Amino acid sequence: MSQLTQLSDAPSFDFKEYRGLDDKVLNLRIKAVKQNLGDRLVILGHHYQQDGVIAHADLRGDSLQLSQLAGERDCDAIVFCGVHFMAETADIVSNTPEKIESRDGRRVTVMLPDMAAGCSMADMAAINQVQDAWDDIGEVIDTNDITPVTYINSAASLKAFCGRHNGIVCTSSNADRVLRWAFERTSRVLFFPDQHLGRNTALAMGIEDSQMPVWNPYDDDLGGNSVQQMKDSRVILWKGHCSVHQMFKPEHVHDFRDKHPGIKILVHPECPREVNDIADISGSTGKILKTVQEAPAGTKWAIGTELHLVNRLKQEHPEQEIHFLSPVMCMCATMYRIDLAHLCWTLENLAAGTPVNVVRVDEETSRWSDVALQRMLDLG
Ligand code: SF4
Repeated sequence: MSQLTQLSDAPSFDFKEYRGLDDKVLNLRIKAVKQNLGDRLVILGHHYQQDGVIAHADLRGDSLQLSQLAGERDCDAIVFCGVHFMAETADIVSNTPEKIESRDGRRVTVMLPDMAAGCSMADMAAINQVQDAWDDIGEVIDTNDITPVTYINSAASLKAFCGRHNGIVCTSSNADRVLRWAFERTSRVLFFPDQHLGRNTALAMGIEDSQMPVWNPYDDDLGGNSVQQMKDSRVILWKGHCSVHQMFKPEHVHDFRDKHPGIKILVHPECPREVNDIADISGSTGKILKTVQEAPAGTKWAIGTELHLVNRLKQEHPEQEIHFLSPVMCMCATMYRIDLAHLCWTLENLAAGTPVNVVRVDEETSRWSDVALQRMLDLG
């Protein structure tokens, strides 16, 4: 067994020893472990991650990009500087039965430096709630005529649910293609956990708001809907949202347009409809980056997405005028939990052969999640 994949009951180093350390010291120690482990280790940094952590990332990207890139690397260990569902996806993609066999039975160890780094949106849909909703909906409409679609920002158990029920995963960059795929098979979709991505995407495809009832998992009476609403539905939207993107408001858009004539409003589709509808451009993180990268010097932007990403764009594109769309800080507080101390603690325990915070999806869940992920990847 590789030194890096060895699991131990107790970590070699206690996190308490890292709390008060100076960033300079932490940076040096992180670099030393990276140098020592070389290609056997890959550190992934999500776009929303703070700069100090991103500086140590071997790869930077959105959650799916990072998992796919990591799946292609021949490494022993992945440290995912993101949130929990991202580490789960990396484990699923990196440890398919075929990949494990090709490595002579060796798994890639995936770690999340702080297990409390969850995603508030993903936490808004639990597998038992989705299963209950599916059963309740089945009392009034035929579930054979519904495709379950989960946003990649969801627990592996939800992706597995989609795998088992002829459903699929989507990202913010392919949600429209995924919905079209679903509508070629069934006349309805159950979309979770983000109502805004589901609604914004379906509206752009010409589906009426009245055909998109919102399912409240805490309302025992058909999720707060009438039987007729269910029968008239095309997309049943889960009552979930991103706590970061829901903070952008239409008045922020109006304010920027009043004060900065000619400014362009660029937002992520996790923003509420009222913002998405009046923006100049709406798109995934990848589209936001590409749009800014390709814009001519002097372009003025107000961008509605996570604060760290917008600040990094400001630094990387001084030739453009970039503003954060909201007057209040909208940052992913859970991702922010991953700091240099947690990264250093994770790496030093890994190097000592006692990996901490290992994220491992059980075999059955992993297999069905991969089915739903693969259906999405097959769309190209
Ligand atoms: S920004 Fe929102 S959706 Fe993304 S990880 Fe943070 S809470 Fe989850």
